[in-house]
Amino acid sequence: MGTKSFFIDTTKCTACRACQVACKQWNELDTEKTTNRGTYQNPPDLSPKTYTLVRFTETLEDGRMKWYFFKDQCRHCISPPCLIEADNQKAADAIIQDETGAVVYDPEKTKKLNFQTIKESCPYNIPRVNPKTKTIAKCTMCYDRVTNGLLPACVKACPPGAMQFGEREEMLKIAKERVAALKSLYPEARILDEEEVSVFYLIVDKPALYQLAERKDAPSLLALGSLFKPLSMLGIGAALLCQLPSLRQRVVKED
Ligand code: SF4
Ligand code: SF4
Repeated sequence: MGTKSFFIDTTKCTACRACQVACKQWNELDTEKTTNRGTYQNPPDLSPKTYTLVRFTETLEDGRMKWYFFKDQCRHCISPPCLIEADNQKAADAIIQDETGAVVYDPEKTKKLNFQTIKESCPYNIPRVNPKTKTIAKCTMCYDRVTNGLLPACVKACPPGAMQFGEREEMLKIAKERVAALKSLYPEARILDEEEVSVFYLIVDKPALYQLAERKDAPSLLALGSLFKPLSMLGIGAALLCQLPSLRQRVVKED
């Protein structure tokens, strides 16, 4: 099985949040108690119970309200800084990368990691810790569905087709074609960090409008990536994946 990628076209997202619900259903994640904060962004942030979240940003443009939507989740980095940090902590089996490129955390083994440094290693502020169990969690790329020939639950659930999933080269081609088609209408249309991640986001305005910090050029990704050859990481990941029986036990049925 080749390396897989998402293409997430923010111009097609209607913020229905079907992806959030599908993710919770598939991963059997609890709901969260929230309060009205004057925004539709709910829950307010990612958490050990929320692997994906549609971020809402409201702005005024020429006196008219404008919305920006961004479905946040793990980017499944090609050379994942979180995995490298786990290795630095002598816990390389806590975070693995499988043959699809999915970066998967073993909940029990993440208990021995220093959460703060794992969190700081992530350029996208993704991992979250359960304060009671000390397990660290995030999006799994639905690797248990994908390795059984199914789409990730969030992709399958998206009514406007804002998300696609498939072979990396194919997704990249579709993403680039879409950018080209949008350029006359949106001169700032671009794909974010496509060389470094497996989740290609198409945005058409400044990253801050999508609640994204302008990334300093991440030496952690580029420099560390050259220290760890992605293919050897995939090999290690494939071997270690066999050691995740608790994650593998689920019987995958088409829903
Ligand atoms: S986005 Fe963060 S959590 Fe996901 S693979 Fe990259 S470093 Fe790890
Ligand atoms: S790929 Fe799976 S785990 Fe990741 S956000 Fe989508 S539904 Fe959730």
